[in-house]
Order: sequence, then C-alpha cells, then structure tokens
Amino acid sequence: MSARLLELSGVSKRFERRPNLGERVAEALGAAPAGQVVHAVDDVSLSIAPRETLALVGESGCGKSTLGRIAAGIHAPTTGTASLAGTPLMSGGARPRKATTRVQMVFQDPFASLNPRMRVADIVAEGPLAHGLVSRAGAAAYVAGWLGRVGLDPSFASRYPHQFSGGQRQRVAIARALAMQPDLLVCDEPVASLDVSIQAQVLNLFIELRRDLGLTCLFISHDLGVVRHVSDRVAIMYLGRVVETGPTAEIFSAPRHPYTKALLESVPRLRREGAADGDFRPISGEIPSPLAPPPGCHFHPRCPVAEPRCREARPELRGAAGRQAACHLAGLD
Ligand code: SF4
Repeated sequence: MSARLLELSGVSKRFERRPNLGERVAEALGAAPAGQVVHAVDDVSLSIAPRETLALVGESGCGKSTLGRIAAGIHAPTTGTASLAGTPLMSGGARPRKATTRVQMVFQDPFASLNPRMRVADIVAEGPLAHGLVSRAGAAAYVAGWLGRVGLDPSFASRYPHQFSGGQRQRVAIARALAMQPDLLVCDEPVASLDVSIQAQVLNLFIELRRDLGLTCLFISHDLGVVRHVSDRVAIMYLGRVVETGPTAEIFSAPRHPYTKALLESVPRLRREGAADGDFRPISGEIPSPLAPPPGCHFHPRCPVAEPRCREARPELRGAAGRQAACHLAGLD
C-alpha cells in the first residue's frame, strides 16, 4: 500500500451559479453583474496515511464538505487530482465502480441519509450484497455482526429508521458505511445534529472503532472541540483554502495562524491554560461570500493583525511537511 492512502493535489472546485430574478433585473437596469462562480475549494493539497484520522475544520461555507465529497469521489475537482492509493477517484468525469466501495461517507443527518421505507437489515446489507461482499444466505448474520459492532441490539435489524433515536440512527449509518469494508471513511459533521450527551457517545464509539478496526478517516467538523480527541492531525480551512495543518496536540497548544487562534478562542469549552472561566471571544465579522473572496489573504478583513501586504499577496502554506501555516506572519511571533 502507498505511504499515503488519500492524496489531494492542487484541488480546486468551482460551481457556476445562475443569477436570480433580482440580479437579472438589476443587470438589465445597468448594475454590474453579480459574481457567478462559487469558489468552493481553492488549490488544496492534503494527504492521509493509512490508519490515520485527519480532521478538516472550519466555519460553515468554508468548503470543507465540498472537499469531503471530492475525497469520496462524489464531486470531480475542477482542477487538480484526487487519488486513493495511487488510483484516481474520478476517471473521465465518472466515479469508477471500485471507488464506490473503497470510500464510504457518514453524513450529518442520519434521518435524511437513511431510506425511511427500508428496514435496517436491508439498509446495511444493500451495498455489501450489490458488491458481492456477502452472500444472500449470509446477509442476516453479517448485518447482525455490524449492528453489534456499533452498539445496537441485532434484533433491531427488522426496524425502520423512524423507530430509532437520533444517536441510534447515526449508529445505523456508521454500520452501513463500515459494512462496505471501506479503505477510507469520510465523516461529514457526523455528530453535529445530535444532543451534546449523545455526541459524546457517538464520538467514543468512533474512537473505539478507529482503534479496533484501524480505520483511515477524514473527519469534517465546524467544531474544534469535537475533533480534539478523535484526530491525529488537523487541517484548518478558511474560504476554500487550507490555512494551517499540524498534529492535533500542536494545533491546540500552539496555533500559528490568526484564524486558528480565533477559532480556539471562540469555543467556550476550549479555554486555554491561564484563561479565566468565560474568557472566550467569538470571531469578529462573517465569512465573506465564496462568490467574491477577498484578494490576497482571504482572512484579512477579519484578521486582528493584518498588514497592508495581506490585502494583495496570497500567503502560501509554509513550514515543515507536518506543520504548516499560510500567513505572512506565521512563525514570526
Ligand atoms: Fe492575518 Fe495577514 Fe496572516 Fe492573513 S496573512 S492571517 S491577514 S496576518
């Protein structure tokens, strides 16, 4: 196996957007045309080693879910390449059949991602049967094994999704993904829709499965607090670009990018050492529209230490391979 399982190289993704009625009227009256291209992902290079969990973190709209879908082979990158163990995830604009089994996704809302008309037994067995991972005769035992593995009573196999709680439904979604025996699991905000107490249970399950099954995982979240205990490395995204990467412990103890620092200070339960209770600050301003990203460093309109050059020159990711930041001032403070 390749030293790197997932390899994203110079990946960008842009979506064309059609103007709405108001914009068409404004244009007809002589207004400048509104931006029509969404810059969802902008020149991102990342890799994940076998058995490693990389957390992709950023605010809503930063492009992390789009990047996750590229890693899963659902979206083709506009430019750049995405490969799994050296094999492209997209070929001629289509997802090769092999890629559909090798990468599986767990989505934020299990209620939306599970077919309400199917029993859990059929939901979990559908993929493995279609891809020949299990025989029809062995399917019931196979499903029971995976339900037990995610902490559900195997007798639940005859139930429908609406008969479960939110946490149980997410366990079903995890069982469905793992039953495909994937090489890579992409989890897109897997606990964001759950109550905090249930979040902890599902995260503990994930940590246990990761340890026991040797999973390789891309774990997407807007919440640094969630990824702290489940990831080996963290990549911070802002408006389509990766602005900092590093081992999880280093990102939390010594963030280098002003955006990473702001993210840490905005989460109440991630108080840094020495900070008083309640000493947290939300990030000022809002993430700009990906239709018209600010020039230079995308973060400069919100950055408390921005300099004039930040408005013009894009900072490149710099640093040793395992610890990088894209800031003109990173490493100088
Ligand atoms: Fe702030 Fe400039 Fe660094 Fe961007 S490059 S994060 S604006 S200091």
